[in-house]
Amino acid sequence: MSTIKVYFLGTGTSQGIPVIGSNHSVCLSKDAKDKRLRVSVWIHSEDFSIVIDCGPDFRQQMLTSNCNYIDALLFTHEHADHTAGLDDIRPFYFKQGPIPVYAHKRVLENLEKRFDYIFINENKYPGAPSVTQIEVKENEGFKVNNQWIEPINASHGNLQVFGYQIEGFVYLTDVKTVAIDEINKIKNCKVLVINCLREEPHHSHFNLEEALDFISLVQPNRTYLTHISHLFGFHEEIQKKLPKNVFVAYDNLEILI
Ligand SMILES: [Zn+2]
Ligand SMILES: [Zn+2]
Repeated sequence: MSTIKVYFLGTGTSQGIPVIGSNHSVCLSKDAKDKRLRVSVWIHSEDFSIVIDCGPDFRQQMLTSNCNYIDALLFTHEHADHTAGLDDIRPFYFKQGPIPVYAHKRVLENLEKRFDYIFINENKYPGAPSVTQIEVKENEGFKVNNQWIEPINASHGNLQVFGYQIEGFVYLTDVKTVAIDEINKIKNCKVLVINCLREEPHHSHFNLEEALDFISLVQPNRTYLTHISHLFGFHEEIQKKLPKNVFVAYDNLEILI
């Protein structure tokens, strides 16, 4: 099996960092690791190319990462910071044809409402992209090319979200609670990516304490924190607070699984 690479396309929370018009010291930071686009990840090997979520920074992320083919676009949930870039799949559609989109039924229905011109088949505007919809169900793995992918069910406040497990790699974002059965599916994974907004509590996201508790339950070899708010502080300062084998992800970081 060929090596799986994970490229962090974006590691910021919904507004990104810097926040527009903000004078917060983190937003003014000169450290490239303090610039965070909206959260997304590209998982690729010689055999497949998978992007999770498609937020408002998608176009810029595809250009920077050199991702030029997408076998599957997986969605975690429907929030705008994870979906608003969907129109920019157009160059991929022109090259590849309809782009396979994997998501919970609720998320597919939401996207269909918001991007009706992409999902309709009749009287389509020439130049509009098309997708193929594939419903992801709880406890039902699926294959992209020959790669097995397992959805991980979690809660984002009141909203259901999916994370995804691919070999030893687990990507879970916008999570506040995870049931024990789902935790058991990812125990002792090689690499865990988990959302960690800031130190202060939040109604629908892990804060640092909750993320660290979750990590000690899962016991991954390595963990990367993502979906970071400017209120969490400077990249370098956050990193100093973390235990061994827990890292703050940053945009354009690429790791091997
Ligand atoms: Zn989000
Ligand atoms: Zn969200």
